[in-house]
Amino acid sequence: MSTPRTTHTPAATTAAATTTTAPRTDTDVLVVGAGPTGLLLAGDLAAAGLRVTLVERRPRTRANLTRAFAVHARTLEQFDARGLADDLVAAGTRVTRLLLFGHASLDLTRLPSRYNHLLVTPQYEVEELLEKRAEGAGVAFRHETELRGLRQDADTVTAELTGPDGAPLTLRARHLVGTDGVRSAVRSALGLPFPGVSVIRSLVLADVRLTEEPAATFTVQGKGDSFAFMAPFGDGWYRVMGWDRSRQVADTEPVDLDEIRAIARRAFGTDYGMHDARWISRFHSDERQAPTYRVGRVFLAGDAAHVHSPAGGQGMNTGLQDAANLSWKLAAVLRGEAPDPEALLDSYHSERHPVGAMVLRSSGAILRLAMAHTPPVRAVRSLATRVLSTTNPVSSRVLGRISGIGISYAPAPGGGRLSGRRAPDVRLREGRLHELLRAGEFVLIGPEGASPVLPPAAPVAPGRVVRGTWRDPARRATVLVRPDGYVFRADR
Ligand SMILES: Cc1cc2nc3c(=O)[nH]c(=O)nc-3n(C[C@H](O)[C@H](O)[C@H](O)COP(=O)(O)OP(=O)(O)OC[C@H]3O[C@@H](n4cnc5c(N)ncnc54)[C@H](O)[C@@H]3O)c2cc1C
Repeated sequence: MSTPRTTHTPAATTAAATTTTAPRTDTDVLVVGAGPTGLLLAGDLAAAGLRVTLVERRPRTRANLTRAFAVHARTLEQFDARGLADDLVAAGTRVTRLLLFGHASLDLTRLPSRYNHLLVTPQYEVEELLEKRAEGAGVAFRHETELRGLRQDADTVTAELTGPDGAPLTLRARHLVGTDGVRSAVRSALGLPFPGVSVIRSLVLADVRLTEEPAATFTVQGKGDSFAFMAPFGDGWYRVMGWDRSRQVADTEPVDLDEIRAIARRAFGTDYGMHDARWISRFHSDERQAPTYRVGRVFLAGDAAHVHSPAGGQGMNTGLQDAANLSWKLAAVLRGEAPDPEALLDSYHSERHPVGAMVLRSSGAILRLAMAHTPPVRAVRSLATRVLSTTNPVSSRVLGRISGIGISYAPAPGGGRLSGRRAPDVRLREGRLHELLRAGEFVLIGPEGASPVLPPAAPVAPGRVVRGTWRDPARRATVLVRPDGYVFRADR
């Protein structure tokens, strides 16, 4: 597939080439934390031609236990726009129906996406894929390296780190992004609070094998004073989570399979013959969000910026969307292509903070309904279940939010009716939109033979823009799509 570009003078291809007055630094962007968020972000930035260093305090090891296991449709679309989705989808298990509280069935095949399903795949598979891509793009990895503090001035950020031998190390960057998880050292170094509440304690989790195959999988069921959740990994292993109101103990209290079996029997009426647990854990869950995702030249993304319960399986997915939103903005600013760099960098917070807040609310709502205790809340749960099962617009809205397909950003001034909306993966003369987005640049779609002009506010050098042509000659509109797949501007 070809990715033709407009014919204006190409912009310089590296930050170094466009920043002759830039201060001397060790790297353009220092990313702290090699979880899924940091890996996607670092890979995007390196693919855009920037110098990127990724520090991670863990040694380089391959995990075989997973926290996240659900990849939603919008995340798969982001992976598709980087040429990464096919391998992941081939290795995972597709789930096309979510069953909530025994009755409300959400049909994912209705999603208006090539990926009209949820993909069950372990978080370590996602990380491995993103790590390979980041390495291939030239990210400099430094494992066993921990951020201890940072300071910034008008032009640079200086990170204080310790290396593998514990020796102190200093790295200077143009920008720094904290993707260092829920106990973020970057967030602490910025002096930011992480306000919120603890929503549930004594949640128990196990990855097990079953002797009886459940009729419905990906199911949440609440009964009496407990609830349970079950999902298949697709390779014979199942993830089970459960909660029992009468057993509220500290995370450090031991947990065994009998405790989880008992909860499952209460919630599902059977424990499906669970055995051979490879991982059992007791944990609690908080709902917290940083008040700002940007302080000067430093940004927060992923769990460092927001955390919530695993209900809805959205933590990793939301962090990956943060990364996709921030990477092209940082690249445009560092390549000197943004007419208003401050406004573009601020738009990361103004677009992603409300999404983080919405995810806290929606995952919190699912969890609270599952924990329903009092008759009024149980009545709300049965009403919600009925409405979800019978009212298409409501279930479409819920599906859109959980899958990320329904998320859009506030329209940009002068961006037209579609600005801020997710651009569907339309077929163009040159290929699908997501295939054109694999160049990591803006895509300008217009009719054949026309010479669409970039709006002056577009934060991209004309020579980088990929040109797309409508297949239908009757379509006359010009649409400029951002590298993260949202409409920047649409003209009739
Ligand atoms: C039981 C459970 C189930 C879940 N299920 C799902 C699901 O189905 N779907 C979903 O989307 N999400 C799910 N999540 C949430 C998901 O796991 C997280 O949201 C995701 O891992 C966040 O990614 P991240 O890259 O932002 O942070 P992390 O994955 O936490 O990565 C942060 C990295 O930073 C490193 N680090 C920390 N401090 C420093 C430092 N000072 N210096 C250098 N490195 C540092 C850490 O070692 C780590 O590697 C689940 C979570 C749990 C607990």
